Amino acid sequence: MAGQSYAALMQRLQALPGVRELGRTGEYPVYAVEQGDRPDLPPALLIGGTHGDEPAGTEAALEFCRRSGGPWLDSFNFLVVPCLNPHGYDRNTRHNGQGVDINWAYQRADVPEIQLVRQLVTGRRFAFVVDFHEDWESPGFYLYELYRNRTPVGPQLMEKVSRLCPLNTQPVIEGQPARGGIIVPTTEKHEELRGQGIPIVLFDHHTDHLLTTETPTSLSLEQRVQVQLAALETVVEAQRR
Ligand SMILES: [Zn+2]
Repeated sequence: MAGQSYAALMQRLQALPGVRELGRTGEYPVYAVEQGDRPDLPPALLIGGTHGDEPAGTEAALEFCRRSGGPWLDSFNFLVVPCLNPHGYDRNTRHNGQGVDINWAYQRADVPEIQLVRQLVTGRRFAFVVDFHEDWESPGFYLYELYRNRTPVGPQLMEKVSRLCPLNTQPVIEGQPARGGIIVPTTEKHEELRGQGIPIVLFDHHTDHLLTTETPTSLSLEQRVQVQLAALETVVEAQRR
């Protein structure tokens, strides 16, 4: 998106209840927002803006924080990182200031954004993780769902999103088999990516249910935010039961 600036975003982030600075990447502070503080409830993790040129995820996470979780705070405490890659956000680039795709650099010790994620999740387990992304080439919405000992939420999520925007129903998406816009990575693919991808590491060590949602960037920002929030709502409602 042309004209997006992290300085403007920072002002909006700093106004959120429960916000704190997680650390810095270069000159940029990265923020986390804590919603809910009941020790009897499990935490859930939301991440946006891993790729700086995917602003709808950041906007959706910010909007979620602005609404303060609502009735969902009876079921979960939320830990939200609305914009993991400020440098990329500021320049509208996928990569961080080192030219690294953070999402696939978990094994690297020299990537500050990865260090912040490590600090945030070490020793913790989350009821679920939702990782907001976007796809510049996809004709419609799709998602990745990783789960163990859980009922998948993908089908009902797609049904809900289908009322808001087109779905990507191609049989192969990003080189992986898909059904109705849902990619469940194969064991082989998972092994190939093990230790590298943020979502893979989070699923292997920190949660039994992770969804990566991908909105098509051809839609308006407002529409993409609505779709991301609808996807999140479906996940939360399913997990509350
Ligand atoms: Zn992405």
